Amino acid sequence: MSISTATPDRVLRAIDAAADEIVDFTAALIRLPTVNPPGTAYPECAHAIGARLAACGFEVEYLPADGRPEHTAAHPRVNVMGRRRGRHDRPTVHLNGHFDVVPAGRGWSVDPFAGVVRHGRIYGRGAADMKAGIAAAVYAAEALRRADVDLHGSIEMSGTVDEESGGFAGTAWLAEHGRLTAATVDHVIIPEPLDVDRICLGHRGVYWFEVTTHGRIAHGSMPFLGVSAIDHMGLVLERVRRELVPGMARRATSMPVVPDAARYATLNVNGIAGGQPVDAIPSPCVADVCRAVFDRRFLPEEGFEASRAEIVALLEGLAADTPGFRYDIRDLMVVHPVSTPAESPLVRTLDRHVATVLGRPAQHVASPGTYDQKHVERIGGIRSCVAYGPGVLNLAHQPDEWCAVDDLITATKVLALTLLDLTGTGAAAR
Ligand SMILES: [Zn+2]
Repeated sequence: MSISTATPDRVLRAIDAAADEIVDFTAALIRLPTVNPPGTAYPECAHAIGARLAACGFEVEYLPADGRPEHTAAHPRVNVMGRRRGRHDRPTVHLNGHFDVVPAGRGWSVDPFAGVVRHGRIYGRGAADMKAGIAAAVYAAEALRRADVDLHGSIEMSGTVDEESGGFAGTAWLAEHGRLTAATVDHVIIPEPLDVDRICLGHRGVYWFEVTTHGRIAHGSMPFLGVSAIDHMGLVLERVRRELVPGMARRATSMPVVPDAARYATLNVNGIAGGQPVDAIPSPCVADVCRAVFDRRFLPEEGFEASRAEIVALLEGLAADTPGFRYDIRDLMVVHPVSTPAESPLVRTLDRHVATVLGRPAQHVASPGTYDQKHVERIGGIRSCVAYGPGVLNLAHQPDEWCAVDDLITATKVLALTLLDLTGTGAAAR
C-alpha cells in the first residue's frame, strides 16, 4: 500500500489553513516565562502544551522529575508527554522540544514575554529557541489528523524542562525512566532552531572543568608575605592562551559544524572567582583561593581523554616551573560527541521534504553546542536522532530573538511530510 499523491497535498493545505493557530500557539507559549535558571512557570507551560496535545488527539501524561534535586516545591520540574497511536505501536516517531528559555538579558526593544507578532516575525525570549519548534511539532502531527491520514505507526511528543542547563530533569529523566528509549521509539526529531534548510546530525563534545589555585593568605599591604591564588590563576589563563589555544585552533573536525569557526576545538573561561567578593566590604588580604570554570569543546577526533590530559599536562608544567603553585582540577561535566549517519532513513526522509517544501537541497550540519540529542543517544540508546526546526541559530539567546512566521510554517510542513512518510499509511512497506 502506498501513500496516494493527494495525501501530502491535503496535509500541506491543513497546515496553511492552520497558520494563524500555529502562530498564536507559539506566542501563547512565549507569554509563559519559563526562564531557566531558576525554572519558572514550568507546570503552567507543561499544561499549556498538554492541553493542546489533548485537543489534537494525544493521550497526555505529566511527568514531574521525581528524584532530581532541582525538582523542588518552589521550582517544580514538570515534563509533558503525548502519544497518538496509529494502527500499530511502531514505528514511533518522537518529537522532543524543551520549553525552558534562557533569561531575557538586556537590550530588548520589545517586551521579551509579550509574544509580539509584527511584520511576519514572532518576537520574544524562546521564539526561536524553541517555542516555535514545539508549535511546529504539535501542528505537524495535527495536520496529519486534519488530513484524515490513517496512521500506521505512532507519534509521540514531549515538552521537557532544563535543556538550557543540561536537560537532566527533562530529556535525560525521560530516557532514564524508560519514556524515551530504543525499546519504544524508532526516530527522534528535536525541532531546535538550526535554520529551516539545515538538518543537524549531532554535536561536538563538551568538557566543563573547574581549576582551583591555592595560595597563602597574608595582609594586602604586604603581599610579599603571602602567595596569591589570583596571580597563579593568571598564570594558568596566560599559559592556556599562549600554549593551548593556538594548537586547538589548528585542529578541525570532519563533522559539518556550523558556523565554520566552530569546526575547531575551542575553550572559554565561563567564570572566575577569587579573594574578596568584588561588592563585599573591603578586607585587604592576599587571595588564598581562586577558582575558574572552563568550557572546553572537543572534537570526536580529539576525544575526551586526550583533551583532559592536555590541560592536566599544562597545569603540571606550571607546578613544576612556578614556586608555590598548587592546584586542583575537578571534572564538572563530560558530554561525548554524537552524530547520526547522513544515510539513515530519518535524515534521508527529511532531506527529501526540505527539498520538496523549500525547493532547494538540505544542508547537513552539526551544532557547536550540545542539546538533548546527547541524552536520547547515550541514555535512550536511540541512534536515529536529529535536530530540525524553525528559527535562525544565531538569534538564539540574543536580545530581540525572533522567528519568522514563514519559517515556522515551512518547518511544520517539512516535519509533517516526514511524519507522514515514517509513520503514515504505507509505513509498513518501508
Ligand atoms: Zn534550544
